[in-house]
Amino acid sequence: MIQGYVDGIIPDYQMSAWLMALYFNHMNDEERYNLTMTMLESGDIVSLSEINGKKIDKHSTGGVGDKTTLSLSPMVASLGLKVSKLSGRGLGHTGGTIDKLDAIKGFRTDLSKEEFFEIANKTGVVVAGQTSNIAPADKKIYSLRDATATVDEISLISASIMSKKLAVESDGIVLDVKAGSGAFMKSIEEAKILAESMCSIAKMNGKNVIALVTNMNQPLGNMVGNSLEVLEAIKTVKGEGPKDFYDLCVQLSAYMAELSGDFTYEQAKKRLEENIKNGTVKEIMKNWIKAQGGNEDIVENPEKHLDISKEIIHFKAEKDGVITKINTEKCGLASMVLGAGRSSKEDTIDLSVGIEFNKKLGESVLKNDIIATLYISEKSDVQNSLNLLKEAFQIDKDSEVFSPELIHAIIK
Ligand code: URA
Repeated sequence: MIQGYVDGIIPDYQMSAWLMALYFNHMNDEERYNLTMTMLESGDIVSLSEINGKKIDKHSTGGVGDKTTLSLSPMVASLGLKVSKLSGRGLGHTGGTIDKLDAIKGFRTDLSKEEFFEIANKTGVVVAGQTSNIAPADKKIYSLRDATATVDEISLISASIMSKKLAVESDGIVLDVKAGSGAFMKSIEEAKILAESMCSIAKMNGKNVIALVTNMNQPLGNMVGNSLEVLEAIKTVKGEGPKDFYDLCVQLSAYMAELSGDFTYEQAKKRLEENIKNGTVKEIMKNWIKAQGGNEDIVENPEKHLDISKEIIHFKAEKDGVITKINTEKCGLASMVLGAGRSSKEDTIDLSVGIEFNKKLGESVLKNDIIATLYISEKSDVQNSLNLLKEAFQIDKDSEVFSPELIHAIIK
């Protein structure tokens, strides 16, 4: 049926009926695995055998301010492992890694196969845009799901993600399943079910896998927007990034290393922290950026090379209190309407705009404190962005300050 749909023999109306039936009746583990493999086999299988050493992959289900790939990849490479990723562009309230990398002038993500393998072998890291024909069945079915309100079903989401991930060879995969107001899965419970479903598919495929359910009830780190996120990613490999983002990168990297079988989690974490302190990770990031065509000096002097708007506007607290809730999807949309993201595939993005979150969940604020700094251009819809932020932030006078949990669950 899947192949028939890809070939145009099964029409949309039949597939839509099937998707809706599945939406209400769900799938068991075996059915889900079979769906994944059928979608995977509809396209290319990417062999990474020309890359020496262990290749460990990471996938995030998507969130706001999630620039993890940029910092985590050189961290993992500093342990002697290889990170060779095919990434995508962003749509809606979340950004895409390839868009973020566009903020590094000269950085090429349209690599040939030979360049891809050569860079991975030389620097330990390579990130390219997804050009090969990976899981075309998923692409076609996803569009239909989007049009028929059947996106939001665990089996379909797991099969969609895993068909693309398992099509690219690796020695293991760490899944970062986001839970919260900026994520697909709004609750921790739902995110755990999705994580378990994806792990089950990976295991049935014989793949080493760990899933982390992580907090997306606020933007990750402080920066949202392309150049701003590159700036934060660079600071983080130098040990100067925000704590939540730094901790998540180190922990995800340590789990990736554990999956390789070469390290225990604790050994890897200790080595990673040393490698950040002694500059090893920074040097790998420089080599990687240079190998893909960028100027390595961006790692030493990011502000000199990144195009970040000089025009700023502040979003301020309306009263004293503690930030008790952030609607993170609205934060992502607030950045998108400034020009940092796309509302449709055809939109062009402005790399220089975005939002810096000066205050985060659980922190106390006084009236007129700056909560966020908007980096804007003449095309930005500033009023819309400020309205979205106003709706997104809840400040409670009587709440105590608190520190939100970063990792809710680890599923092996
Ligand atoms: N991401 C995907 O790739 N597929 C889904 O179904 C949902 C999120």
